[in-house]
Amino acid sequence: MKFATKLVHFDAAPKDPYHPKVTPIYQTATFEQESADSLGEYDYSRSGNPTRTVLEEQMAALEGGAHGFCFASGMAAITCVTRLLSTGDEIVSDYDLYGGTARLFAKVLPRAGVTIRYVDASDVSAVAGAITAKTKMIYIESPTNPFLRVVDIAAIGAVAKQCGVLFAIDNSVMSPYLQNPLELGANMVIHSATKFLCGHSDVTGGVVVLKDDALAQRVHFLQNAEGTALAPFDSYLLLRGLKTLKLRMDAQQRSAQTIAEFLASHARVREVYYPGLASHRDHAVHMRQARGGGSVLSFTAGSAEVAKAIAERLELFSISLSFGSVQSSISVPVKMSHASVTEEMTSVRKPPADMLRLSIGIEDVDDLIADLRACLDSV
Ligand SMILES: *Cc1c(COP(=O)(O)O)cnc(C)c1O
Repeated sequence: MKFATKLVHFDAAPKDPYHPKVTPIYQTATFEQESADSLGEYDYSRSGNPTRTVLEEQMAALEGGAHGFCFASGMAAITCVTRLLSTGDEIVSDYDLYGGTARLFAKVLPRAGVTIRYVDASDVSAVAGAITAKTKMIYIESPTNPFLRVVDIAAIGAVAKQCGVLFAIDNSVMSPYLQNPLELGANMVIHSATKFLCGHSDVTGGVVVLKDDALAQRVHFLQNAEGTALAPFDSYLLLRGLKTLKLRMDAQQRSAQTIAEFLASHARVREVYYPGLASHRDHAVHMRQARGGGSVLSFTAGSAEVAKAIAERLELFSISLSFGSVQSSISVPVKMSHASVTEEMTSVRKPPADMLRLSIGIEDVDDLIADLRACLDSV
């Protein structure tokens, strides 16, 4: 089956006697057992819940993995992946990271005795050079947020394989529709499901997908031991949002390309960061490993004051955190998603004060351009 078909054709209610078209919300914390000494398929929703299982299996299918795990947030998913490491272990990470991940790496992992070595992962030899006997994991995002830098996933996958270390990638900016890192050599794909998978800004969730059975057992153990799994109702909402992933992203990506070209031609704009533009420094690498530029783009406005004025004057772009929703939004990364990147975290790249990030929704692109044009012409 092709991706669009997979999104709507899957077993929505395994073993349900009534064959509903839509996955029921098994809003139960616990399940009655047939006997005192043997547990059935489900016993307690922290460990497993049928609504969540359908979503987890669907995510595994969409990413080309064998096992999916859904968490209460993207950060819970990332935390779980880092829990695979022990005191003394090291992570080699790209220096462009989502603000929350940067904070986790800088302020939480060191307390567990895990060290991070930051490199520019778009330079594969820098990644290989940073690996030591203690390295257990390579961690990257591609494209990064908000700089939209691209890392050659297959090349890093080859380094990880050669060195025998795990390779985890945060695929939130692309979604499984546009990029499938497991096929390029990653061992674990992570999503903030809050973004494109949900698409409607009504769920906070996270996903981990992988192929390896033994690794899956360890992730499931951690999900249950730490109690970080996604709730049944949120699983239902994600299953619902996911069905239109392709329709939404096709429209969003088409508009993002038009808007990136418009911004690149406007005198008020300094620089546009969008991997779908032929002028983007990583365009060729990106288009080799992904099916389009996506619908997140950033640009610089020259000064923090102008950036603030643009964000506040736009009418169709609400100022909000997050991206991937059907409604367009704008953010000032340094003050919002990356506010947790503080001055002392010098290894991670802090967005410049004049940078704005746009997330393009499904509105008519003519309306979005008219809004942007009126605003840019007036600041
Ligand atoms: C939002 C985001 C996260 C964190 O996800 P939450 O659902 O907000 O916890 C992680 N990585 C990236 C790239 C994100 O954009």
